[in-house]
Amino acid sequence: MNLATLENETPRPQGGEIQFPPYLTPIRFSDFTPETLKALIGGRRLFLRGAAFMGQGFASSLSRHGLEIEAFIDKSPRLRGRRLAGRPVYTPEEIYDQPDLARKIFVIMTSGYWEEEFRPELAAAGLAEGRDFISSFDLAPLNPSIDIAGVCNLRCQGCPRGNMNVHPPVGFMSAEVYAQVIDKILREMPFLGQIQLYTWGEPLLNRELPEIIGHNKARRVLSIVSTNLNLKPELVESMARAKPEVVRVSCSGWGANYEITHTGGKWDLFLKNLKYLAELNRSLRAGMEMELYYHLYRHNGGEDYEKIKALAEDLDYVFRPQTATLYPRDNVVALRLGQPITREVSRQMEMINEDAKYLLMGDFNSETETRCLENRYFSINWNLNVRACGVSYLPMVADNFLEVSLPELVRRVAEGEACARCAGAKAHCFVKNFMVDQRSLKEN
Ligand code: SF4
Repeated sequence: MNLATLENETPRPQGGEIQFPPYLTPIRFSDFTPETLKALIGGRRLFLRGAAFMGQGFASSLSRHGLEIEAFIDKSPRLRGRRLAGRPVYTPEEIYDQPDLARKIFVIMTSGYWEEEFRPELAAAGLAEGRDFISSFDLAPLNPSIDIAGVCNLRCQGCPRGNMNVHPPVGFMSAEVYAQVIDKILREMPFLGQIQLYTWGEPLLNRELPEIIGHNKARRVLSIVSTNLNLKPELVESMARAKPEVVRVSCSGWGANYEITHTGGKWDLFLKNLKYLAELNRSLRAGMEMELYYHLYRHNGGEDYEKIKALAEDLDYVFRPQTATLYPRDNVVALRLGQPITREVSRQMEMINEDAKYLLMGDFNSETETRCLENRYFSINWNLNVRACGVSYLPMVADNFLEVSLPELVRRVAEGEACARCAGAKAHCFVKNFMVDQRSLKEN
């Protein structure tokens, strides 16, 4: 595949005038081309503010267009002193503390959720938005995920696979169809750098996963995979041999506790594969960033938490504790509107902690103007249906992704009933509250 040909042959999308309601983030499609971006940078040293996967993905996409970054700027202690995507990571102080900064550097903010903190920080360093820094969303306004497996082997009670009565069709996206999907996305968003190969399914169940990861590598798009690891070791191995850049693993307790909320899962198999994946990463020199997401409930803090944390660190997983909550958003809306819910949703609500309950059910009257961030994260189902957003399950806005342009999808979400209903129930401001909660969890 020739990316230059691909870009030249296909007209870039024009967003046109989409009327965004006050509860959604306005999305504007990029006017930037690699040439206009280079002209704006004007020979200054290029930095990315945010070294997580969005940043690393952008480093890859910019390189695809002949733009090399100098370094990342990030204050996470975990990343201090590291090299990512072949580039060093500096703290803001190490970069900003120099005279006449605006003449020397250009910054692209590469974080999905923390831009509101980055803007004043960059302004205080004497940089002006539009002249000395831009957002990655000015280049690629959407973050897609592709649910390449429309099925899961577990029935976790906090996930739609375990707590919804109605499900979309079951099946898998073939590697051939995947190539058409990713090529369409790259035609419409040439600066896309990374993609999630999951939403609600278990991607390792898709036998063509290695080929799909290969398609991404050929296009220099980073692959993010999430797995429950309750699978035959051969599936773990074939994924590791394909070397996705990021592998996320979820866990919710030690031993028998794990099996309560990872419903249908077996602790022994999970533990065995957790170790096996770490060993494969070493022996294959796969370079996968492995993350262990720990879902914190009322029953699995304390000793379980400490044991999993120690295990993760011992095996070289990045330990990421998260307040367990409730998915999909369909259920949050139903709860807030007092509509019928399943037994599994009730059980989940009994087991999450009080903070999580407030995040889901609190009175957000003072925050009615909060804009949802999730409309940047759209999800393409294995059968090419497109979901209203990455945290919803059943509301679909298109039957066939290949036949609808990205601006048209954005328009359908903005004008559609799913978001109006969500915002009507004040379930749309949950994300922001949740992110703040996660930050305090990490800082504690
Ligand atoms: S359905 Fe709700 S969470 Fe999803 S984009 Fe719309 S308002 Fe946001």
